[in-house]
Amino acid sequence: MHSGFRDSRRFVACKKGLCKLIGIRFVIPNDTIHQPLCQIVKNETKMSERKPIKTTVNEIVEYWESRIDESELSIDFAEAHERCWRCGYKSKLHRCHIIPDSLEGEDSPSNLVLLCQRCHIEAPNINDKDFFWEWLKAQKAFLYDTYWTIRGMKEYSDIYKEKIEESMTRLDIGPTEFREFLREQTGFVTIHFGEGRLNLSTIAGIMRSFIKQKEKQLGITNAISNAGLRVC
Ligand SMILES: [Zn+2]
Repeated sequence: MHSGFRDSRRFVACKKGLCKLIGIRFVIPNDTIHQPLCQIVKNETKMSERKPIKTTVNEIVEYWESRIDESELSIDFAEAHERCWRCGYKSKLHRCHIIPDSLEGEDSPSNLVLLCQRCHIEAPNINDKDFFWEWLKAQKAFLYDTYWTIRGMKEYSDIYKEKIEESMTRLDIGPTEFREFLREQTGFVTIHFGEGRLNLSTIAGIMRSFIKQKEKQLGITNAISNAGLRVC
């Protein structure tokens, strides 16, 4: 973090005038932090000046159809125009740069893929095509509409040091009972649980409330924290 900060009483614009350009001026105590600040502002300015993407969804699908092995992705290519290439959920798709626009990435099919908003936000912003594809393929979902639920399960085990499957086994909870509870809790009877409209902590929290409810019925207290301590 640079040590510049907004201050309306006494401010210094950066030497290139970029701070002024986006309407923000910073107090800059010394020149050593001037360069990184300029860089930050320059990138922000570029973001706001980003040109609309001209390459179409169909051009992106057609380009990659013969160049990528669909078995490495979460989608069948027949549905590549309507499902996110990373998580596999049906969603409004963004045309996402492989090399970011701000790093001189081209507006061409070879530099674009189709991602949902959530995956787009998580996509890497670096000048490394290989890494982008490794990231995109790393969490391939084997079944449609499971990706975000699986991520929520991982969030649960990160918090409690116990996998949700282990909690279920411990409390003798079957998968049907579990699924029914999740549906009731989310109130989404027609939308698949974890479709992407709930963030990961919410999914993990819903799982936790189910486990807590079962523990209460069975008169079990502090089981999760004990399990966590055991693992740690
Ligand atoms: Zn996605």
